Parts: sequence; structure tokens; C-alpha cells
Amino acid sequence: MNMTETTKVPVEISTIRPEPGQIALKAPRREQPPAHIADFDMAGRKKFLEELGYKPFRASQLSKHYFERLIDDPAQMTDLPAADREEMVAKAMPKLLTNVRTLEADDGDTLKIVHRLFDGALVESVIMRYENRVTMCISSQAGCGMNCPFCATGQQGLTRNLSTAEIVEQVVAGARYLQQMKGIEQAEDGHEDTRPLRVSNIVFMGMGEALANYKRTMGAVHRLIDPAPEGLGISARGLTMSTVGLVPGMRKFEMEKLPITLALSLHAPDDELRDELIPINTHWKVDEALDAAYSYYRTTGRRISIEYALIKDINDQGWRADLLGKKLASRGRGWVHVNPIPLNPTPGSKWTASRKGVEQNFVERLRAHGIPTTIRDTRGSDIDGACGQLAAQE
Ligand code: SF4
Repeated sequence: MNMTETTKVPVEISTIRPEPGQIALKAPRREQPPAHIADFDMAGRKKFLEELGYKPFRASQLSKHYFERLIDDPAQMTDLPAADREEMVAKAMPKLLTNVRTLEADDGDTLKIVHRLFDGALVESVIMRYENRVTMCISSQAGCGMNCPFCATGQQGLTRNLSTAEIVEQVVAGARYLQQMKGIEQAEDGHEDTRPLRVSNIVFMGMGEALANYKRTMGAVHRLIDPAPEGLGISARGLTMSTVGLVPGMRKFEMEKLPITLALSLHAPDDELRDELIPINTHWKVDEALDAAYSYYRTTGRRISIEYALIKDINDQGWRADLLGKKLASRGRGWVHVNPIPLNPTPGSKWTASRKGVEQNFVERLRAHGIPTTIRDTRGSDIDGACGQLAAQE
């Protein structure tokens, strides 16, 4: 996405930039944010409240306010004792995200929000409004350890894992934002805008490799899909987990047996090129990642998405489309869908998007192998919103 943004937001936490090809599978040990009710399931929340010196049943009351009513203002929580309210909320629901910037694109239908965390690290989330749904793209780590050379986040290195509540808070912040828009929306012709204002779809495609932060990511998944007031009650079928091919994480995720879509960022069908584009490929090869994806489909019945950023003269050759088509078709029919994505170039990078004709040829060749293929909509193409691009500019 390309918009010039002049406001500078200082990053208070320093991260060592990785050498080319250097991967960080484990996040550096850093101070964690304060605990929050969204870190725990209901049983854990009761224990947490008790440890804070309150009655365990306060956990259900706070959960209703947070997950159902989306409120964080103690003054509105009139079922809590007036004398204790402020302190209880400050301790059990500490503020974890501060909005430092919101950028709009697509006539306000795409919003990119940059949040500052308690230690100064910055993360991004995106809200995308469509006719029949609202999709949010959220971050699971501050920075990323996977070091894909075409990605701005990868160039920053991995600062730390986000806590479960920091992941959940991005969605709650988005849901609150949408709630505020209710009733004030008017389409240009004066009629009310009837498009949904409830978050229905979530993609773990913001900053970070979510499966590398497995435990906290799974905690967040449960907070998102568990029925209110334990969680936000979003349908698991509306969630998409994205990975660059962390095979052990994919296998573990398969065993959760949840109807969540798995998106594999493949970007090359051959190990020679993928070793360069996705350094994790030096650990788990293309065929291992595809086998794990296929196995995920067999267990969950959810069709796999293969993400393929088309990069001019790097991975967009016809023979690569054929090789990808063959590899996918050889594993069966109907289990996979390919999303070629026009690359969103990082400023100053040598990587650029493929030409339109080349893109079309790539799609047609895949379809000729019987593989359903759709160019992915690149929302927000007029703001700097490629994964991690905005924070990387600071
Ligand atoms: S493309 Fe995704 S996995 Fe690769 S460095 Fe960027 S955020 Fe990490």
C-alpha cells in the first residue's frame, strides 16, 4: 500500500535486525504485559480474580462487560461495588493497547490501526468492511522471526511474542470502533448504510508467525470463538490461521480439530527458490509443508488456502505455475485453493509486483491443472499496509 505518512512514532524497544536467512524460532525473553482477564478461560479468570483479592464470581461480571458489551469504562459497570470498581478494572483489565495512528483507505472501508504496547513495541491490525462481512487482520508477534526478504516485518526482526490478551484486544478494539459507527453511518445518497458492523472474520496475517507463538495464539483463538461471555462468540469458520510452513506447528494445529481455515504462504513451488524467499524452507521443505497442509484438510475438512505473492521475474514464471499445479493436483482434488497476491512492494526493495499479463497467465495455468485460483483482493492499496510495512517505517 502506498501512502506517504509523515508522523513519526518513536519505537522505545530495540530489536536486533537479522542477517539475511537468519531465523528466530524462539522469541527473545522480555518483560510480559500485565495479566488481563482475556489471558484466561473462565476457570482461570476466577482464579486470577481471587489472586487479586476479589470474589471469583466477579470474573463472570467482568467477562460480560468485556466480551459481550465491549466496555472498559468502570463507570458503566454498575453491577460492581462502586468503591472497588476503578481498582478492580485497572487490575483485571489493564489497558494493553494504545492507538497511535489510524489510516483509512478504500473510502474508509479499510482501516489500518497501529497500536503501541506497554513496552513501546508497535503492532498493526486492519479492519476491512465488505457488503456481507467485516474481516480483521491481526498480529500475533511484535516483529517476526521468519525473515522473509520481501517483507518489511521480517526485516525488523522479532521483538517478542504478544500475550493472548494483546492478540484478543486488537479484535475488541476493532469491534468497539465498529460499534461506535452504528447509527451514525449514512451512505452518500442519504440512505442508511446497512452493511454489517460486527467482526465476523479474522485472519492471523498481520505481523508475526502465529504458530511460532503457539500457546498464546491458541488462547486467543479460544477467546475469539468461545461463546459470550467466555469469549467473543465469533464462528471458528470465520477464522483463518496463516503460516509460512512451520510444519510441527501445523501438525499440532491439526490436532486441535477446529473448523478453522489454514492458509499456507508458499510463494514458490521449488525448494531452490523457496529457500531464498522463505528461509524457514531450509528447515521444512515445500513437499513437507504441502503434506502437512493436505493432512490438515483431511482431518478438519477445511479447504486449504495457498498464498502466493507474485514477484516480478522471481517466482511468476509459467513453469512455476505448472509445477505448483502438479504438486497440488497430485495430492487430490478439491482440497486446496490458490490465492496469487500482487506483491505490495516494500519501499526501497528490489522486489516488485508481476505484470498483469504474467499474473493472468499464472492463474490460467493453475486452473488448467484443475486448481481453483483467485487473485486476492489487495485491500488498502493506497496506504502503506503490506504486512508490517507501516511499523517498519518508524
Ligand atoms: S511474510 Fe509473514 S512470516 Fe514472512 S517475515 Fe513477513 S510477517 Fe513474517
